[in-house]
Amino acid sequence: MVAQVKEVVGGFMSLLTGMGITLREFFKPTVTIHYPRQTAKIPERFRGHIQFKPDPETGTSTCIACQLCAKACPSDCIELDGEKKPGAKRKSVTWFHLDFTTCSLCGACIEVCPVDALEYSKAYNLASTDKQQFHLIDLVHQLEERQARKKAATPVAPPPADTASSSAESSSTQNEQPAGN
Ligand code: SF4
Ligand code: SF4
Repeated sequence: MVAQVKEVVGGFMSLLTGMGITLREFFKPTVTIHYPRQTAKIPERFRGHIQFKPDPETGTSTCIACQLCAKACPSDCIELDGEKKPGAKRKSVTWFHLDFTTCSLCGACIEVCPVDALEYSKAYNLASTDKQQFHLIDLVHQLEERQARKKAATPVAPPPADTASSSAESSSTQNEQPAGN
C-alpha cells in the first residue's frame, strides 16, 4: 500500500515538474523560425561559397583574371579565364568556375585577390539530392543573376515633384484644343 502511494506521489511530482518546464519555456522568446518561409539572420562572419562582389558603378565583377586565386587555392577548385576588351587597360573575367564539392572555405582566394573581387556568400540553405549541382558554380553567371534579381526587386522611384507637375502641365496643355477648332 505504502509503495503504491509513493508511486502515485512520485508520478504526480514528475508531472508537475514537466508542466513547470513547459510553462517556463512557453513564455520565453521564440528562437526558431518558420523555415523556409522565414529567413535566418546570418552572422557577418558566416562563410558561404565564394562569390563576386558587384562593382558599385557597373554591377559587374572587378576581377581582372590574374589567376592568383586559382594558384592560391589548396583544393584546386577554381578555374577561370578572361579577355582584354578593346580599349581596356586590363583583362576582365569571362568565366569563373568553382567546384564547391572540394572547397574548404579556407579563404585563401579572398585574401590573395589584388582587387578585392571576392567575398563569402550568405547562402546557408544550399541543399540538393544531386551533388553534381555543386561541382560547377559559375560566379560570373551567378553575379548576373543576382544583379537581375536585385534590379527586378528595386521599386521604380516616382519622378521628382517639379518634373511631375511640369509633365502634367505639358500633357494637359497638349490635350487642350484651341477654342476655334
Ligand atoms: S575558399 Fe579556399 S578552398 Fe575554397 S575556393 Fe577559395 S581558396 Fe579554394
Ligand atoms: S578573383 Fe581576384 S585573384 Fe582571382 S582572378 Fe580575379 S582578380 Fe585575380
